[in-house]
Amino acid sequence: MDSILVLTHADETGAGLTRASLEAVTAGKELAARLNAPLAIGIVAAHPQPLSKGLPEAKLMAVEGEAFAQARFASDAAACEALCRAAGATIVLAPQSSRFARVMAAVAHRLGGVIDTHITALDATGPESIGVTRWFYRQRIEAVVTRTARPWFLLLDAGTHAAYSGEAGHAQIETVAVNLPALRTEVGGFRAPKQDAQTIRPDAKLLLVAGAGWTKKQPDGAIHTEEAGKLILEFLGHAGASLGSSKSLVDQGGEGHSVLPFLTHLNQIGQTGSTPRHAKGLSTCCHGEEPHVVGWRFIGERRAISLDPNCGWTRGKADVVYIADAFQVIAKLNAMPAAKR
Ligand SMILES: Cc1cc2nc3c(=O)[nH]c(=O)nc-3n(C[C@H](O)[C@H](O)[C@H](O)COP(=O)(O)OP(=O)(O)OC[C@H]3O[C@@H](n4cnc5c(N)ncnc54)[C@H](O)[C@@H]3O)c2cc1C
Repeated sequence: MDSILVLTHADETGAGLTRASLEAVTAGKELAARLNAPLAIGIVAAHPQPLSKGLPEAKLMAVEGEAFAQARFASDAAACEALCRAAGATIVLAPQSSRFARVMAAVAHRLGGVIDTHITALDATGPESIGVTRWFYRQRIEAVVTRTARPWFLLLDAGTHAAYSGEAGHAQIETVAVNLPALRTEVGGFRAPKQDAQTIRPDAKLLLVAGAGWTKKQPDGAIHTEEAGKLILEFLGHAGASLGSSKSLVDQGGEGHSVLPFLTHLNQIGQTGSTPRHAKGLSTCCHGEEPHVVGWRFIGERRAISLDPNCGWTRGKADVVYIADAFQVIAKLNAMPAAKR
């Protein structure tokens, strides 16, 4: 019979588990219930005790110490290996965070196991039939993978499960000793862009997407790129939204056109861009071409603002399309008191 271990890690403050870790906990709890299998949860953190409160009923294990305060291959791989050996689980679930994504293949190898990544759903109709879902070919083909090899490591994509939240009771936690190798990497700290310079926010409820229209000639015959940049940044600040872009808009920088300085190819959504997950998406000044819309696959509710009544969005690709001038609409939204809050 299978047994399940969910590996989790602390967020950057060290005072909580990451949202993606709590999503993996939900996935583990659901799978354990379906398989009637024992569930263990492992925590990688400097001070894990407070982080265990509010977790579901399970065998709780943790590694602790300053070595685990920050992401580093040698200490994280050793920590996950120790937790896996202590739990002896046959299925190991973990969030596909940058911290775990870079160590988990090595951990699977050390345990003689196998690994699948970017998992979006887990299903089990019986103990012998666990099927895990992932997408291939730029999110166009969905496959269900089954394996008999164990231990089976599964990295779960963020945004695919609800984050677990339980009542903060007292939880008994077992500390697992880790045989740390020589640590040659010293983490000096973080250098992150300022909050308003950081436009990609995977946890945001709303994705605002900017298309090439923002930098095109407007009805007055002029280009208003500077104004476009201000409107977009102000909107992002009010709504706490993440910023996506069409390929055409980010490509313009390399082609010597007028550009929005805060956009890079990392913002690009689509067939050759990313496929983010947000509850809602608002596309502005974008035509809604197929290769772009491919990236909207996991957006819950899609809305678009375009001047063109024949654009791709109006042909069934968005739930709501406003045939309107995005400059005016976004300026009005920014002026609303609700937006300012
Ligand atoms: C193999 C391949 C892969 C590709 N991959 C991607 C990808 O991953 N991502 C991607 O985005 N594209 C991709 N593309 C390109 C894609 O097909 C489109 O060319 C691109 O997405 C169009 O971008 P756009 O809508 O921003 O610009 P445009 O097609 O120029 O459209 C601009 C729109 O803005 C509107 N507009 C102008 N002013 C205003 C205003 N004031 N208010 C409201 N609306 C206004 C116009 O009416 C127009 O509809 C790919 C293409 C190919 C061939």
